[in-house]
Amino acid sequence: MFKKILKYLLISILGFILITLIVLSAPAMWHRWVIYPRLEKQVNKFSKLWKEPPVLAQLNTYRGVMHVHSYWSHDSEGTLYDIIPAAKNAGIEFIFLTDHPRDNIDTFPRGYKGYYEGILIEPGSEKQGFDAWPLDSAIIDWSTDKDTLVKKIVNAGGIIFYAHTEEPHNWANPWYQGMEIYNFHTDTKDESLLPQIINFIVNGKKYRHWAYREMFDEQTSILALWDSLNTQRKIVGFSAVDTHENQNIRARYIEDGRVEWVGPDANIIDTMQVKFWNRWLFHSPDTNGWIFKWMIDTYKEGFNHITNYVFADTLSVPSLAYHLKKGHLFTAFKSLGDATGFILYSQNSGDSISGITGDSVNIEQVKTLRAISPLPGQFRLILDGKTIDISPDENYEYSWSGLKEKGAYRIEIHIKLKRKLIPWIYSNPIYIF
Ligand SMILES: [Zn+2]
Repeated sequence: MFKKILKYLLISILGFILITLIVLSAPAMWHRWVIYPRLEKQVNKFSKLWKEPPVLAQLNTYRGVMHVHSYWSHDSEGTLYDIIPAAKNAGIEFIFLTDHPRDNIDTFPRGYKGYYEGILIEPGSEKQGFDAWPLDSAIIDWSTDKDTLVKKIVNAGGIIFYAHTEEPHNWANPWYQGMEIYNFHTDTKDESLLPQIINFIVNGKKYRHWAYREMFDEQTSILALWDSLNTQRKIVGFSAVDTHENQNIRARYIEDGRVEWVGPDANIIDTMQVKFWNRWLFHSPDTNGWIFKWMIDTYKEGFNHITNYVFADTLSVPSLAYHLKKGHLFTAFKSLGDATGFILYSQNSGDSISGITGDSVNIEQVKTLRAISPLPGQFRLILDGKTIDISPDENYEYSWSGLKEKGAYRIEIHIKLKRKLIPWIYSNPIYIF
């Protein structure tokens, strides 16, 4: 009798566990076998529609990621062995790092700086809600009052943008030059952890880029804030990948021959001897010495998720910095399609270009606002936060001559995926005064 009860109890517990596992992993399985292959097909088809747009600006377009962490940050282990191949894979030409400083006194240059296999890396800091790039030999004292700090960095020729714009900042500060209009980390904050982790377990290898996109939500309140700030003065908008490559479980040998387990945020979680029972877990060390790796976030997918496209003369820090501060950039979800060739510009009555995205242009000099795209989409013209015109769904070109009002005019391009329109490109505004 007792044995029988025990047997039924065991069977029901096992059954319960099995059912829970099936229920929990069902959405991820559905993604793997149905949704992601379909999306993959759609995006491949979409990329075949890519048409080289005419070159209009006297500037080149450079793809870059900003707000990235490397080994210099306490919560990242990323080295060039990880960063450079990832950048090459995503067609990234420059990386503006934002490492967490190790101390209040933060000296530059530090970590990586210069060209690595042709990819330009510039060191910077993320601290106290700032993305700061002094761009020169500099000492930042992070104990300085925030507003004074901003002014100092700007006066010394550096760049200072607000990071994590879902958090409070002194928006009225007259010195900061720009803000994140999209940050991948910000985007993930509203997700429940367990389903996402299960999704990465099931889809991480084959469809990690779609697992990344699974967390996407349009950042409407941040965009609205950006628009409202732009009615006062130019606030440059850019995207932050915020990649650390640190939501992972990895292992490596330490000096005494034991194995050290490194968990999320690059924290050491355990140290153990290699024994017969765990030996099978480890492979020979890779270039960074890892003998075990299970990854959620990677530079590879991070860099391909969203990218800044900067109009500049050369791939150099002075040229990129100059144009970044001018707002001569737009940002696009690169895993959906390469946006190189997009431009928003204004034309005067003589049909010559009077300004591009980020420029301030006298209303007398604007007869038409135009935009072109290498891939077809729906153009939305936004004036001071209000959508004032929408094009048909599959346009390569956009033109608007209804100008009556001064203000900040920007373009969004939305594309169709899963029969839904989703944002692909955000331009900086043209400021018409
Ligand atoms: Zn960060």
